This record gives sequence, C-alpha cells and structure tokens, in this order.
Amino acid sequence: MSKVLLISTGGTITMVREKGTEALVPADMETFKAFIPELNAGVFDVDIEAFHPLIDSSDIGPESWKQMAQMVYDHYDAYDGFVILHGTDTMSYSASALSFMLENLGKPVVFTGSQLPVGVLRSDAKENLLTAIEIAAAKDEDGNALVPEVTIYFEDRLFRANRTTKRNAEHFSAFNSYNYPALAKAGVHITYQPHLVHYSDPNEPLVLHTEFDTNVAVLKLFPGIQPSVVRALLRTRGLKGVVLETFGAGNAPSDRWLYKELKAAVDKGIIVVNKTQCNTGSVEMGLYAVSLNLMKAGVLSGYDITTEALLTKMMMLLGEMPERAKELLGKDLCGEMTVD
Ligand code: ASP
Repeated sequence: MSKVLLISTGGTITMVREKGTEALVPADMETFKAFIPELNAGVFDVDIEAFHPLIDSSDIGPESWKQMAQMVYDHYDAYDGFVILHGTDTMSYSASALSFMLENLGKPVVFTGSQLPVGVLRSDAKENLLTAIEIAAAKDEDGNALVPEVTIYFEDRLFRANRTTKRNAEHFSAFNSYNYPALAKAGVHITYQPHLVHYSDPNEPLVLHTEFDTNVAVLKLFPGIQPSVVRALLRTRGLKGVVLETFGAGNAPSDRWLYKELKAAVDKGIIVVNKTQCNTGSVEMGLYAVSLNLMKAGVLSGYDITTEALLTKMMMLLGEMPERAKELLGKDLCGEMTVD
C-alpha cells in the first residue's frame, strides 16, 4: 500500500461549526478526522502533519510556501505521495510556487480544499480529499507514480498546479486550467492522461528552492490609464519585476509616454513580462502594431502563463538566481507555459 503524507495548512476544508456560536472555525485534526472516518479505515496509509495554527489562505505567502515545501522535502523518501489541504482563495499561487520550488519532483504533490467546510452538510470536503489521496497514491504496474507533479484536484478534475486559476467563489468546480487540459478526470473511474503529464529526469535529485524576492508588482492596463499611475508603480523603490497585464494577444496603448516609462524601467534592470488579461490564449508580441512598442521597450513575452504562475516564478527566480531570472522567465521550467 502506498504511503501518503497529508499536510493541512487550513482553509474552509478544515472548518466546522463552533458549538454555541455556530461560527465556522478551523477544527483540530482529531475533530477533522472524525468527519472522514475513511482516513482510519485501513483503505489508505496516511500520516498527518498540520500547520499550527491553521490559516486562511489569504494569510499565506512565501513563508508558508517555504514551510509546505520543506515538509515535502524533509519527508520525501518516507512517502510515495503528498496531499496538501489549503484554502481555495490563494491555492493556485501556493501550488504554482511549490511547482517551482521542488525542482526535479518525482512524486505527486496534490493540493485540494473545499467550497463548503468539512463540518457542513453537502460539503465537498470528503470527496475532494479522498480522491486527492487516491491520486497521490496511484502508481503504474512498474511502481512509478502516475502523476509526479504538483497538481490541484478539485470537484472531478486534476490539473497541473501552475496552469490553474480560481475561477468560481460559488460552484464546487472552483478551479480551471484554461490553457492546458486536465491531467485526470474522476468519475466512476479515475481516467489519467499520461501523455499530458510532465515527468522530471529520474536521474536528477530533488532540489529545494526557498528564497523569494517579493519586490515585484502587477500592472493591469486599462483604457484611460494615467501616466501618473504607471509612473508611480514603475518607479517604486527596489522594484525588480513586473507582470504587465495587457489586452488580447499582448497589446497595449501606443502612447509614447507608456513606451518611455517601460523602456526606462527595463533599462534600469527591472524585468517586465507581458501577460494577457484573457484567460485563454497566448501573448503574441508583434502580431499587432500596438504590441511593437512593448517589444522595442524590452518587455518579455509570458506566452500563455497564468498570473499566479508568472508572479511566483518571478519571485522565486529573483530570490534564488537573480542573474538568470530574465533568461529563465522566457523558458518553460515545468510545464507552466507553452513557448512557441
Ligand atoms: N477563505 C478560505 C481560504 O482560502 C476559502 C476557502 O478555503 O475556500 O482559506
């Protein structure tokens, strides 16, 4: 039987109604386990580690990413797979971050959570958790993990983590991967798509990256954006990287002032990457005249990457290997973007 380590960070999935007030509060692991008796039924071999205290995912950032990745790294040899319970709000950021932090990952790390707390009738917690464990434990007939990547399992789909975005605050299918197909679908059977999975070189050891430089910003363009706003952001002291959210296939207003501000930022050594505001599709710089200025200013293409993946990749590269950050932001590291 495969051994799985369940790491609980918090979020709705861990919550129950407090006796007396009926308010939703994170449950300790014993109370949590009482709602999911299957964890102790001998079907799975699962150990549990939890954050103290459990946290809402809006409070999760680089320090917590480090804690999660370190837990996977420290227990890597002892387990066949890992499941991380996490609030849904920033799950795509955390899961994307871990995909870059755990270089040469050869075992499944499956993030999951739920839209309704475990202690609430109709909760999606149990189903999401049990299927995530099954996926983390799944191996082929040669004993190799079926999906040795960082992924998100939610409702009935398994997605590559660094391709996901939280898309719905209401429905059970909270996540989507707009630019890459699901790696598995769960119905009566779990159907895996091995041809879509990213496999690391099995001869390379797992390398843990934990340094993040958070001197980055997202600049979302909109019709009528003022030079003062762009200037204030691009001239922020210490700024090292910018995710520039553009229109359509990577287009921006052709105003001379915008070109000059971006060029001045790039000349100062700030890395600016073009990411389309569209969920689906890719940046194609040079396709329209209105993206030529961006190219001339030295803005890089983010192709079809998500904002969550681009931000976390940028912070990690700036923290870990700043001299190579620009070069590596243009490359696909672990399936996060389709470079043409
Ligand atoms: N606010 C919660 C969180 O992200 C929501 C959730 O888990 O769905 O921690």
